[in-house]
Amino acid sequence: MEIIVDRARCTALGICESLAPEVFEVDDQGDLLLKSNTVPEGQQGEVEAAIAGCPTEALRLRG
Ligand code: SF4
Repeated sequence: MEIIVDRARCTALGICESLAPEVFEVDDQGDLLLKSNTVPEGQQGEVEAAIAGCPTEALRLRG
């Protein structure tokens, strides 16, 4: 499953990073980085929690 970020919505507060740190990272410039463009093995629950927890609904899955 591919992880899609709506950059226009993301405010880079990093809630996704706190819920799924193996997948999401907010860098020093305040930009959200995806460590993986797809859901890694064993990370489905964490990624779904991050999607549900994103306050701006900037995250979704495709595929
Ligand atoms: S939780 Fe949502 S708004 Fe916050 S950094 Fe992650 S994708 Fe962006």
